[in-house]
Amino acid sequence: MRKPVLLKLWLAATLLALGACTHVPRQEHNPLARWTPSPNHEARRPILIVIHATEQNSVAESLETLRTENSGGPVSAHYLIGRDGARYQLVPDELRAWHAGGGRWGTITDVNNVSIGIELDNDGRSEFPPAQIDSLIVLLEDLCERLYIPRTQIVAHADFAPTRKQDPGTRFPWQRLAQAGFGLWPAADAPPAPDGFDPWNALRLLGYPLAGRAATVRAFHRRFRGTENDVLDAEDLRILASLVQQQAGAE
Ligand SMILES: [Zn+2]
Repeated sequence: MRKPVLLKLWLAATLLALGACTHVPRQEHNPLARWTPSPNHEARRPILIVIHATEQNSVAESLETLRTENSGGPVSAHYLIGRDGARYQLVPDELRAWHAGGGRWGTITDVNNVSIGIELDNDGRSEFPPAQIDSLIVLLEDLCERLYIPRTQIVAHADFAPTRKQDPGTRFPWQRLAQAGFGLWPAADAPPAPDGFDPWNALRLLGYPLAGRAATVRAFHRRFRGTENDVLDAEDLRILASLVQQQAGAE
């Protein structure tokens, strides 16, 4: 009985040493402990939803990319939504898809491990058609309801990987999503930020990484101002104060 376990460990160690396998091999039981199973368990559940734009030209192209060992290395997502609203599921909700890459959101350092990834067919420049956003909202409703994901926990890929990623980009309609009850959006009548308000602390509280501050501000602007610049102004501070207040209320 010990041989297969040792063989598995040897294989895993060899693969890791070769750098050929960066994901953790599945292991039914840990050989370091006596297996005494309990029936009281279920699949782990994600706690975050990541919105992506494919930055490609068609659903067919993205289905190929997300299901093969393409030249940039294998990637995937749980869902892909076409411009006409058609939905495709590529990975089961309870399994770890490879859509996030490196990055950090609050204290989460392995976003793939705790998130559902949704790719939207979009070339990175075009508007997102209403049929596609309506379809996304139906899916978000299902995921948040069924998996108990907080409705505030919907983020852009660029939010947690601002130095590497831009998607879903300035054209993604976050306000429309917020009107449907998903993600954070500042209150229209929010007052100016109070004197001494610290925008960096606010960004950190929301989850943004601060390792590259200019890139983080650009990600924040893409999402909440529809712009690309990296200088914070008074309106940003007003927005940040409103968002922090909402997030605190949602916890
Ligand atoms: Zn992405």
